[in-house]
Amino acid sequence: MRGNPEAHQLIAATSLADALALLANEPGAWTLIAGGTELMVAHAAGRLSAPRLMSLSTIRELSFIRVEPDWLSIGGGTTFGQIRRHATIASDSPLLAQAAAWIGSIANQNRATLAGNIVNGSPAADAPPALLVYDAEIELISQRGSRRVPYADFHLGYKESVLERDELVLALHLPRRFENHTKYLRKVGTRNAMAITKVAIAATALFTEGRISEIRLAAASLADRPLRLIATEAVLLGKTLSRETRTAAGAALLSEVRPIDDIRSTALYRAHVAANLLNEFLDTLEHEQATEQIA
Ligand SMILES: Cc1cc2nc3c(=O)[nH]c(=O)nc-3n(C[C@H](O)[C@H](O)[C@H](O)COP(=O)(O)OP(=O)(O)OC[C@H]3O[C@@H](n4cnc5c(N)ncnc54)[C@H](O)[C@@H]3O)c2cc1C
Repeated sequence: MRGNPEAHQLIAATSLADALALLANEPGAWTLIAGGTELMVAHAAGRLSAPRLMSLSTIRELSFIRVEPDWLSIGGGTTFGQIRRHATIASDSPLLAQAAAWIGSIANQNRATLAGNIVNGSPAADAPPALLVYDAEIELISQRGSRRVPYADFHLGYKESVLERDELVLALHLPRRFENHTKYLRKVGTRNAMAITKVAIAATALFTEGRISEIRLAAASLADRPLRLIATEAVLLGKTLSRETRTAAGAALLSEVRPIDDIRSTALYRAHVAANLLNEFLDTLEHEQATEQIA
């Protein structure tokens, strides 16, 4: 059943300070709304229980892309359209630019924000795997001050996170040091566009003297939250890419994932696809290894 607009009070915060004061005065009373592409769908389906909504969409301090020598900082209110079109994001963090281009339609990308994608907490969301393999930090702010947390520590469970009731997401910070890494991102969905992810795997890795000296793997829809594949990484770190290493990595992947099971796919299908994607990434890495040996 459709939601009733009269069941909700909607205000627009005029500034970041205004929003933080409202959150501090009545923690938990306000539900933040940015692009509204998640919350308005919930409203249309009659699933939006939030009686009081605070719009962040006019707060300029939340919408920025800042390029510093070592960090790329993206405001929580930045839309995926802005991310997709930004030249430095495309060159420094191409996996995030790619994820942005996958989110819904162009109209969707012009409303949907980075913070909304993260805080909504869907295990299938497209931005988180890229943020995880870039070792991003998330900056949370309240009237008490701001804190930076490794993004890998942000999600605690299904739609649960470390975000406190008086906090909002100010920014994501991405280190600018992945130029020489092998990078991989593959999303498997029903179609190429306008499709929620069935499985996605992202990766960044570096070869030094024939061995994997750095590796990060992350996945969508393989757990109740966006997931770093820590056990699989541990098998690969410091190794050459032998057949034994690849077999062990595949086994580690299957032991650490707990794929979601829903109307889009079964958990078993997702596990098979994840193993195939890992193999595809390892083929790319093996090619890099061979190239390094020739050089
Ligand atoms: C047609 C359609 C297609 C879609 N396709 C995709 C897709 O392919 N891939 C994908 O990943 N997603 C997809 N989505 C989901 C959605 O567009 C994204 O998750 C989007 O990034 C949500 O951002 P928003 O600003 O619209 O969030 P909102 O709906 O405004 O908010 C979502 C949640 O985030 C919270 N929030 C928002 N901003 C902040 C902040 N600064 N600090 C703290 N909390 C905050 C809100 O309180 C709420 O809980 C699709 C949605 C639609 C309607």
